[in-house]
Amino acid sequence: MISFMKSIRYLFRIGNGPSSSHTIGPYRICKYIKTNYPDAIHVCVTLYGSFALTGRGHGTDKTIIETLKPITCKITFDYKTKTEHPNTLKAEIYMKDGSMEVLTAVSPGGGSIRINGEKSAPEPEIYPEKNFTEIKEVCEKNGWDLVEFVRQREGDDIFEYLDTVFDTMMDEIDRGLVTSGELPGKLHIQRRAKDFLVSKYSEESETSNSFRLMLAYAFAAAEENAAGHIVVTAPTCGSCGVLPSVLKFYKAKYKKTRKEVINSLAIAGIIGNCIKYNASLSGAEAGCQAEIGSACSMAAGAYAYLKQLDIHGIECAAEVAMEHSLGLTCDPVGGYVIIPCIERNGMAAIRAVAAGRLAEYALSSSSVSFDEVVQTMYRTGKDMKKAYRETGKGGLAEELKKSKK
Ligand code: SF4
Repeated sequence: MISFMKSIRYLFRIGNGPSSSHTIGPYRICKYIKTNYPDAIHVCVTLYGSFALTGRGHGTDKTIIETLKPITCKITFDYKTKTEHPNTLKAEIYMKDGSMEVLTAVSPGGGSIRINGEKSAPEPEIYPEKNFTEIKEVCEKNGWDLVEFVRQREGDDIFEYLDTVFDTMMDEIDRGLVTSGELPGKLHIQRRAKDFLVSKYSEESETSNSFRLMLAYAFAAAEENAAGHIVVTAPTCGSCGVLPSVLKFYKAKYKKTRKEVINSLAIAGIIGNCIKYNASLSGAEAGCQAEIGSACSMAAGAYAYLKQLDIHGIECAAEVAMEHSLGLTCDPVGGYVIIPCIERNGMAAIRAVAAGRLAEYALSSSSVSFDEVVQTMYRTGKDMKKAYRETGKGGLAEELKKSKK
């Protein structure tokens, strides 16, 4: 049987922020170079597209130089040459014996990489199903729920990995909640997660309290990412705060066991995988709807699972979350993953829960499938002007250019 999707462990990658496509991807490309070209002494790297336009703000150049060490490196930013994928780099690798080899690689989002003429074995494809509709059919035929489906395809090991993922997510929130001060870069933005921990009111409604804490958790993780610290791509670094925020808050609120929360991560993973293999997780390719929209969809699915909705309810929640993220542009000010990214994580966490609630009440009248909205997101992303796809040339990035210099 031909398989299409890879393990969800490649969706939830653990690494340094601030950007899965612009730091984790290039980090992995450089590791590949070091492993496969042991005689390399110098590398000339050319960055194209979004890599060139926002690479400095995202720290792509620093990541490449640091990872390649002790191999020396020269980086060129090519703003003009058009490439098939916006996150493309070319490496001219010079060997001890004076020979040179050229490698081109793409970082399509979420820390994945594609290397032309790859020398090592690629990550295996283990899911024969192509999309959510096929997953539903298999589940119905076999009487599986989505968690059992993931177990059948991935084996029990995946839940051990998700355990580590969950701990790392909670660590990023815990660290972010006790840290204050200025985030790195030229924007001079202060961390704010801590400020949301204490209510300004002597009495606070349950809803207001929920919003405040979800904002605190999402900001904490997103600020840790902006600081370049260890986070989990969920599904990207820039959107890393959405899912952990929802999980932390609702684990406590509904007194969910660790096992239930780990299972909900498997649900989020399979939703993210469907988006990854049928559309895109890359802001440079399809705008922020592909990053924050996907994170929102994954978190909504996880929330629906925690609220004991069945596979149809989970699909509806994930669909609604993505449907109402359509059109979201990627316009990071100064190329940093700070404005609008950090607040966007908080807002998406709240929206994910709203999508889950909508699914609870309006499932029977739902008329758009998850697969349809994923295709719509991708097409909308392709239609988006390039300025709104992680170039730092449109939207807030353009508007705030002068004031934030
Ligand atoms: S605006 Fe969205 S897609 Fe763009 S860098 Fe920020 S979080 Fe990522």
